[in-house]
Amino acid sequence: MRAAVMTEVRKPWTIKNLPDPKPQAGQVLIRIRASGMCGTDLHVHHGVMPVPLPLVLGHEPVGEIVEVGQGVAGLRAGDRVGVSWAQRGEGRCRFCQEQREGYCPEYQSWIQMGGGNSELMLAWASGCTLVPAGLSDEEAAPIFCAGFTVMSGLRNADPRPGDRVAVLGIGGLGHLAVQYAKALGLEVIAVTGNPEKKEEARRLGAGDVVIASGGLGQALLEAGGADVILGTTNSAAHATQALRGLRPEGRMVNMGLVDGPIQVDPLHFLTNQVRLVGSKQNHRRDLVEALDLAAAGKVKPRLEVYPLERINEVRDRLEAGKVRYRAVIKH
Ligand SMILES: [Zn+2]
Ligand SMILES: [Zn+2]
Repeated sequence: MRAAVMTEVRKPWTIKNLPDPKPQAGQVLIRIRASGMCGTDLHVHHGVMPVPLPLVLGHEPVGEIVEVGQGVAGLRAGDRVGVSWAQRGEGRCRFCQEQREGYCPEYQSWIQMGGGNSELMLAWASGCTLVPAGLSDEEAAPIFCAGFTVMSGLRNADPRPGDRVAVLGIGGLGHLAVQYAKALGLEVIAVTGNPEKKEEARRLGAGDVVIASGGLGQALLEAGGADVILGTTNSAAHATQALRGLRPEGRMVNMGLVDGPIQVDPLHFLTNQVRLVGSKQNHRRDLVEALDLAAAGKVKPRLEVYPLERINEVRDRLEAGKVRYRAVIKH
């Protein structure tokens, strides 16, 4: 199978022919059709998130099951599935008992078996979710990390009807967050430092767009403030500023791996009873909901599609902030 292999930190990935894998008990073998590239791949590439090397990256994989290992119930050859980051726990800890495998200290992910930047990928069957008809492979791929993450973030914010939701950062996650919040009937404000994204943010469903590179919270307050802020930025400074833009009892849900501590103004925090919530992919039902809303046409990932041969160029584009809004490798 052809695969893009990361062999060293900060070095180009190499297209190689690797032996075709065989599924063990509980696993499936997937012929990958589409594989999204995520900001986290950059953290891995730079060694910020260390992984054992060599390794095939890609944690937004979608494809067709071609072989099923022993003891797999439910999934069959021919099924179209995607694979979540957390595929299974060790099955014995408290979190596994509660079916919250994402907290298991020994959970298994693409890091153990390799990801979707490959013609074939092994996955634990328990990590697979069926892709509904009506979604192309390319459209479905980004839902498995970006879409899942923002849907869990929205659910973690506990939005109420009539809430104003500000989306901080309009990129791979943010462009989906705007659409998911809108699909749930919420009023959406896009907050971006890039004036060129204003019209697109409106097309995605934002009722208002705040353009600000500093003093984000003040700018947001002047636009009416927000009950919920969905933070998708990597900038701790921006996240810190944005907190100011929360209305009383507002919730800021942070989904980006920010580059330092988020500062909280104790007086604002206390008098407004605001909450700062960390969020990652949570319940699998959030992923299913995210897939369903996309299949219903209410959310449409904006994509750039490339062949595997151009994967290094794609990663460089992502790093340079040029991707609009998610890059997908199509096999
Ligand atoms: Zn990701
Ligand atoms: Zn466990």
